[in-house]
Amino acid sequence: MKTPIPFVCSPHYTVAPQWIVALQAAMPEEVIMPFDTLDAQQKAACTVAIIANPDPAHIAQMPQLKWIHSVWAGVERVVADLGHTHLDIVRLIDPQLADTMAEAVLAWTMYLHRDMPAYAEQQRAKQWRTLDYTLARQRSVGVLGLGALGDAAAKRLLASNFRVNGWSRSKKNVDGVNCYTGADELQAMLAASDIVVCLLPLTAETKGLLNAEKLAWMKPGAQLINFGRGPIIDDDALKAALDSGALKHAVLDVFAVEPLPPTQWQWSHPGVTVLPHISAPTDRDTASAIVAGNIRAYRENGVIPTAVNTQRGY
Ligand code: NAP
Repeated sequence: MKTPIPFVCSPHYTVAPQWIVALQAAMPEEVIMPFDTLDAQQKAACTVAIIANPDPAHIAQMPQLKWIHSVWAGVERVVADLGHTHLDIVRLIDPQLADTMAEAVLAWTMYLHRDMPAYAEQQRAKQWRTLDYTLARQRSVGVLGLGALGDAAAKRLLASNFRVNGWSRSKKNVDGVNCYTGADELQAMLAASDIVVCLLPLTAETKGLLNAEKLAWMKPGAQLINFGRGPIIDDDALKAALDSGALKHAVLDVFAVEPLPPTQWQWSHPGVTVLPHISAPTDRDTASAIVAGNIRAYRENGVIPTAVNTQRGY
């Protein structure tokens, strides 16, 4: 009989039972069980586990483990906790997630493009006033990160007539997108974008990347959307740029501390729209189908999907 596959997560992860149901439905040939319900013999025999920010002490109880499959796209926490081990860390790459994120990027780009924060403010003041309209084709949107999510977002923006700039670590060729590469080309990319969308992973290199110096490279009155991770932006520098009017508005979905504490300035700043980390929720059914496909290939021919590069951090 096959060893059960444990689902390993924090005890506070409230949707673990729903994940187990969805994963089990996607791979009826396997037995998916909460980690703490496996006996010592079963734990000792596991070679693969499915994870959602697991306790490293639980992972250490499975000495035969070869790889772990995260059900999330962002892996900074698991890389920090387990990146030094021999384990291959596989993250979720789901076209549905990319599509959902592309939709969010388009929605919140439109929100800024069509001046919705300003019109909402005018309504509160019972003020009837038209603002100048800019055509989408005259608006440049810069996407930081052209990976699974950034690539889909850039294409969705292009399809809505925006001019699109993209930035990545390695050289990319995306039809219709002005592609910028590496630290040397960041300034030019930021200076060419009216709205900047962050879809970078959190790594040693991207932590605090958007600091006072980089925010000053953005166009005067430019706007920012952060759908990547909170610590990529230096919050004090962002507040200063918004206070001075150097930047017009920021849509923030991710924060250094989540939930965002009530005392944080972002909640009440007129230049900030706060979202509770909702830009791209994982769809449990499509994600489970991806995980199932990867585990099936491993069971059939021993192939482990491309793992996260723990040196790079993503
Ligand atoms: P990905 O496929 O790994 O893509 C990452 C992109 O960032 C790549 O284009 C990469 O460049 C670029 N990059 C990384 N470090 C860089 C650096 N130092 N300089 C320049 N470019 C750099 O990741 P993904 O699947 O698109 O996901 C991106 C992030 O979105 C995740 O890590 C997660 O934090 C976040 N996320 C947020 C939500 C939400 O609801 N808010 C949901 C899902 C994911 P190369 O292509 O050259 O490697």
